[in-house]
Amino acid sequence: MKKLSAEKVIFSFSAEHEPVMAVDVPVRMEIQTKDCFFNQLREPEDKVDQIDWDVINPATGPVYINGAEPGDTLKVTINEIDLDEKGCVCCMEGEGTLGDQIEGTHVRIVPIENGEAVFSDDIRISVDPMIGVIGVAPEGHAVNTGTPGKHGGNMDNTMIRKGAVLYLPVAAEGALFALGDVHAVMGDGEIGVTGLEIPAHVDVTLELIKGGTPEYPVLEDPEHISVIVSAETTDEASEKAADLMKDILYQKTGMSVPDIIMLMSLVGDLQFCQIVDPLKTVRFVFPKKYMK
Ligand code: CA
Ligand code: ZN
Repeated sequence: MKKLSAEKVIFSFSAEHEPVMAVDVPVRMEIQTKDCFFNQLREPEDKVDQIDWDVINPATGPVYINGAEPGDTLKVTINEIDLDEKGCVCCMEGEGTLGDQIEGTHVRIVPIENGEAVFSDDIRISVDPMIGVIGVAPEGHAVNTGTPGKHGGNMDNTMIRKGAVLYLPVAAEGALFALGDVHAVMGDGEIGVTGLEIPAHVDVTLELIKGGTPEYPVLEDPEHISVIVSAETTDEASEKAADLMKDILYQKTGMSVPDIIMLMSLVGDLQFCQIVDPLKTVRFVFPKKYMK
């Protein structure tokens, strides 16, 4: 298995970046990640106001996929996410959905014990590891790793977990794949601006599908297919996600558009990924058992 250490990171997705490794696909890789704070908040005495904000949201990579060209699809299977022994969660004045209701910054170091995040003596949370930042170089300008988009990026989607398969639209030669910002657990919406931010080792398999590039990232797990859309508002993202899922179902099932809309209305779920990043991200999730 190829290994990539967390020493080589990017802070934007861009076709201009020098790759840290070139690989022939299919390939299985173990990618080490720093947490979204560049591991600057690891001890109870670490303070948010001492953080270097220029190194936020590091993504390990980028990896050059030999043969990948614009218009192709990069298929990423998440085999395993191994967490460090502790993570951190914060909330900050002026940040997030309720940031106007607190003063200053608040950080909690949360140990992971036996598959549980120990939030307090009374509250233990089963971990559900997920990848916050994962993507490829976008078309056109660089996009910082804090922002989601068509290229993936900071989607903060709880469904990007072990067993998921992500399809990313290749927009640059070599795709230039990178990932980071693992969370031990996060609620949909990420309303306080962080999940349980934690260093990790992520085991992925990368494959290349020639052509067929999706407009926005598409995600599958054994039971669901979903499309992940980011936009200025959740309304805008929601409408686009529903429209793209309708297109997927039309192509894959040949059902009529009215039938698809009725079925999506009955069994499709529109869900928030995050509502606190520069663009908001939603997913439209459809159960594959109804794609007959
Ligand atoms: Ca994030
Ligand atoms: Zn994060």
